[in-house]
Amino acid sequence: MDYIQESDFTVLEEGFTARGLIEKIINDASQTEERDAFLVGDMEEVVKKHLHFLKTLPRVKPFYAVKCNNFRPLVKLFAEMGTGFDCASKSEIELIKEIGVNPERIIYANPCKQISSIKFAANNGVQMMTFDNELELIKVSENHPKAKMVLRIATEDSKSFNCMNVKFGAPLNTCRHLLETAKNLNIEVIGVSFHVGSGCINPQVYAQSIEDAHLVFDMASEFRHKMRLLDIGGGFPGTVEAKICFEEVAAAVNSSLDTYFPEGCDVDIIAEPGRYYVASAFTLAVNIIGKRVLQQDPPESHGAGNGPCKSVLYYLNDGIYGTFSHLLFDFGHPKLILHKEPSPEKPLYMSSLWGPTCDAMDRIAELLYLPELCIGDWLLYNNVGAYTIVMSSTFNGFHPPHIHFAMSLKAWENVHLLKRRYDPAENAEKNDFTL
Ligand SMILES: *Cc1c(COP(=O)(O)O)cnc(C)c1O
Repeated sequence: MDYIQESDFTVLEEGFTARGLIEKIINDASQTEERDAFLVGDMEEVVKKHLHFLKTLPRVKPFYAVKCNNFRPLVKLFAEMGTGFDCASKSEIELIKEIGVNPERIIYANPCKQISSIKFAANNGVQMMTFDNELELIKVSENHPKAKMVLRIATEDSKSFNCMNVKFGAPLNTCRHLLETAKNLNIEVIGVSFHVGSGCINPQVYAQSIEDAHLVFDMASEFRHKMRLLDIGGGFPGTVEAKICFEEVAAAVNSSLDTYFPEGCDVDIIAEPGRYYVASAFTLAVNIIGKRVLQQDPPESHGAGNGPCKSVLYYLNDGIYGTFSHLLFDFGHPKLILHKEPSPEKPLYMSSLWGPTCDAMDRIAELLYLPELCIGDWLLYNNVGAYTIVMSSTFNGFHPPHIHFAMSLKAWENVHLLKRRYDPAENAEKNDFTL
């Protein structure tokens, strides 16, 4: 069975790229007045990220964090490539089940769950779930006694304050009690998880947390829990603009794993990457729908050439309540690209970019120096795949942009190779990937 089919995306023929698809859609739209903002998701980028993950963290099995971007073609692609899934709600579990994924590939990674959702998980074969407190254990013992529990520990970062630890994660000094409580309730604990949070800029936090997890494994053996899973969470950077790079994190993780969970220790190691996979895979094309020019008084020259002294406000047909929601809620690094390369001698003006709603908060960027643009012109934004459309609303009657999914033939071939590799029924030899 295939999870993803060709009808789920636009196939890019040899020599045609996702950027080419954007140009085509812009060209078609430019013949009309319907210049709606749209997104293009480049599935080749996601496949490349996956291959890179497998190569760079060879002992770690990824469970994609569905909350980051839950559009169906994307999620089906993950299913096809053989990842597991980190679900945090009933409807995320429903989505993954609906596309036909075996519930053994799901971890319900939310330490505080509604009772009806725990029952839903039990009735749908989802066994792995996280907890970080005693009352959660009691809820689980009453509603899902066969669950395989994963103890989520708090992460330590001496360098920065981590809000994630305020909301979730058992401090180390509470773990012994939790493991004992689980034993008394007859609840199985199979492993330890942590999540460094999205703002982590210190790879050593992963290393420290792996060391802490090792301590908890030792405690658990006192209570004869059969520990066999280490879950190192998410937070891996997804763009080259992020403050740390993926390889740095991977190096810290690999060396810490070799020390505390060496090869042959019989512990499965999983991670829950979200942004790593999708942040850079999506590009937004957005249209200028309005413009206001302000004449400025004192000529403070800011490299603005000899042009008249003015600043420009541009109003776009997508904003903070749409794709740019990650500017409010996440550590987004949207990267602006002018659709038409400006000639270098054109003067630059102080500019700001605003979303389409009537809210003054709906400001995308300010203090930009841009050549003068016109109503109807397009702007492109890279790095808009993670925590963007999933957080958007229909505030003021503006709907999130339409998404086009693009897959190159080469990437599509690799998806099939990946599937053969993980699917035992396919009986595959080792394949070479060439993306
Ligand atoms: C959100 C979340 C993730 C994914 O985080 P990214 O920063 O997108 O990688 C993974 N695990 C847990 C528990 C989360 O809450």
